[in-house]
Amino acid sequence: LKAKLDFNESPVDVPDDLKDRILARLKDRRWGYYPAFGAGELRQALANRTGRSAEEIVPGNGSGELIGAAINILARPGTTLILPTPAFSLYFQLAAIAGLKTATVPLSAPDFEIDEEAFLSLCKEKAPAIPLLCSPNNPTGGTVTRTFVKKLAEACPVILVDQAYVEFSRPEDDLLPLLDEIPGLVVFRTFSKAFSAAGFRIGYALARQPLMDELRKAVLPFNVDIAAESFAAELLADPTFSEESVNAVRQERERFASALRARGALVAPSQGNFLFFSLPGTYPDDLRRHCQKSGVRVRNLATADLPYLRVTVGRREDNDLFLTLMEEFR
Ligand code: PMP
Repeated sequence: LKAKLDFNESPVDVPDDLKDRILARLKDRRWGYYPAFGAGELRQALANRTGRSAEEIVPGNGSGELIGAAINILARPGTTLILPTPAFSLYFQLAAIAGLKTATVPLSAPDFEIDEEAFLSLCKEKAPAIPLLCSPNNPTGGTVTRTFVKKLAEACPVILVDQAYVEFSRPEDDLLPLLDEIPGLVVFRTFSKAFSAAGFRIGYALARQPLMDELRKAVLPFNVDIAAESFAAELLADPTFSEESVNAVRQERERFASALRARGALVAPSQGNFLFFSLPGTYPDDLRRHCQKSGVRVRNLATADLPYLRVTVGRREDNDLFLTLMEEFR
């Protein structure tokens, strides 16, 4: 395997000195004891980072766990989850586990922007409905505006927004400033992307306290283990590593997108650490297999009417290798 560009993982690993500090912190703990009940220290560190209070934060075993818990506890029987598509596949699995119906609003090429009116009217039509948005959206890369989320709040008492990739987006894409205005807004974040920590399982949900008191009932105690706790504590104490790697990815994303376009690809504007693209006149799975043969993995997300693939923004040399393979393929 030469370049793993299929899971939206970070192209850089945590540096050795930071790993040493995390391991030292972990070594100091009593491994026979449970993690801190209620994860107070971790919640306080996340509160300091986000400018919210510790009562408004629930950490989890990855953000996926928390999205599932929120769906399980906040959806009354008969609720429909409303999703823009293409969407992250986990949402459909979580809806199925919770026994909920889903209804979808397609995002359209070439920009994959959300049709706000269509989405809003589907929410009203399917009431009781809970919108589940992803901003930036995996796999298309677009974001929703604060104005739209506010409009949605007038129709829906609960709104779930997955912001797993928010660190790669613009300041105005951050939805936390809406928490004070929208009591039903739940935002999900993760250490898996911007913090290069998908191998540790750690994410968090943010909402006003009454909702978070509900969410806490739906997660098991000690869902964040002491390894993840140690990791988060060190990274939050010194966020330089994460900030630098996010800046590098953002810059490289623009170069990579231009290079793809220069080679004839249609590339959706992305605020994430990935690009959603199609190469007209070719079959997506042929390109995927051509790359796979040379040790480069990308994701084929094509449907009958949408011949698109997703490629993670990797290191410059990884992306260049992919570009070379794509040229060969054409
Ligand atoms: N949300 C989105 C949109 C994702 O793409 C992913 C991971 N691919 C997740 C959530 C899950 O992240 P975590 O590792 O925090 O469970």
